[in-house]
Amino acid sequence: MIPDKYLRQTCHFLNNPRLKENTAIHHQFQKLSDYILGGDFDELVLVLDCYTTEVYPRYIRFSDCNVIAWDNHFWDIYGRFLFMYFTYKNLNKSLPQTFYMNYYKSMLLIYLANRFENHPAFARYLAEEYSKMDYKFPPYNEYEDINDILDKVGHLPEFNISKIFGFCHEVAHIAYRKKNTLSNVIQEQVIDYCEAIIQLEELKRKLDPLVEQKSNDKEMGTFLDIARRLLTNSDGKILEEVCCDIIAICILFQYFQDEAGMSLEEACSSLSSVNYFLLCVHWFSTSEVFWKSLYEVTTNVQNDDAFVNPKSPYYKLGNTISDEYAVRINFTFAFCNDKLGMKFDNYRVQQEFMENGFTSLLSDSIGVDIMDVVLNKTKVAKTDYVHAIAHQKKKNKLIGWENEE
Ligand SMILES: [Zn+2]
Repeated sequence: MIPDKYLRQTCHFLNNPRLKENTAIHHQFQKLSDYILGGDFDELVLVLDCYTTEVYPRYIRFSDCNVIAWDNHFWDIYGRFLFMYFTYKNLNKSLPQTFYMNYYKSMLLIYLANRFENHPAFARYLAEEYSKMDYKFPPYNEYEDINDILDKVGHLPEFNISKIFGFCHEVAHIAYRKKNTLSNVIQEQVIDYCEAIIQLEELKRKLDPLVEQKSNDKEMGTFLDIARRLLTNSDGKILEEVCCDIIAICILFQYFQDEAGMSLEEACSSLSSVNYFLLCVHWFSTSEVFWKSLYEVTTNVQNDDAFVNPKSPYYKLGNTISDEYAVRINFTFAFCNDKLGMKFDNYRVQQEFMENGFTSLLSDSIGVDIMDVVLNKTKVAKTDYVHAIAHQKKKNKLIGWENEE
């Protein structure tokens, strides 16, 4: 099947979006995919520029080619996430906390209205709350380009580095599936590293039988859990994600030194921007899972014990998600430092999020205040075909998602 046609069947496109990818970055993409896949890789890799309701850039495997759906919708959202973060960091004191909370909440609501398109009533009522807000993430029929905004405040580099990291991560999936040399080496090293962490811990336990009762080494405990999870995870999904992050970082580290003449320190410092990207993705995906579970619990009577029944998939959902975040961020950077000799001052950026209150600002912006309104309306909404179409139309109007017929 033709990739473009396939994509159009699986999600909705915005035909005239405010953000498109510039051609210069496509040249960079070509170079980077040669770095990852090797110059003699004989399969077609297509980068398809789009702006869709799926939001995220993604890798899709077709029988005769590899496609990266380069979804500018995500970058449009992420760019504004980044802009607001730097505004918060630099002007925090001069604007009230509620200003930022509202902005992030509006951003989340519009994101959810897209992601829950298959639940039209739910999406429509999320969009309704979004549309009531004053200062907010702009609706899709407002045409300001996020590149210009970030350029004016001097933060375009962080945005671009996140983008090429995102790109390399997707291409790394191709390398991983093809088991090329680079991905095999990384995967083996990751497994060795995990095994070493576990052996070291067991040794410590043998030498000191009381070690389990000591609580001072909490960080090491988490790390040990991460190593165990990576080794035992049966479908290998987390292992693949972590390996793809590491491949992306390795390649960019090399690329920055070769092509941009950066020193080792400069390359590491540039790559620390990846933390913004990972935090953003983490916040959106955890909030989405949270809202999804509320939806399931509200609309399906079989789920009414979801949060108290250990067998329910929603039980202790929050813990599972934060574990995965810990895996992706902490493990990836620790591995690059320990095994590959990079010098990331990763904790500095994470410390910055914690100390300036940004992470708690984000968790206060997930829309708890509008939960009841949205869920109650959704619960009584009609869901037959005709109503579903009407909900979808209404939602599109509320968020300015306009396509000429
Ligand atoms: Zn991935």
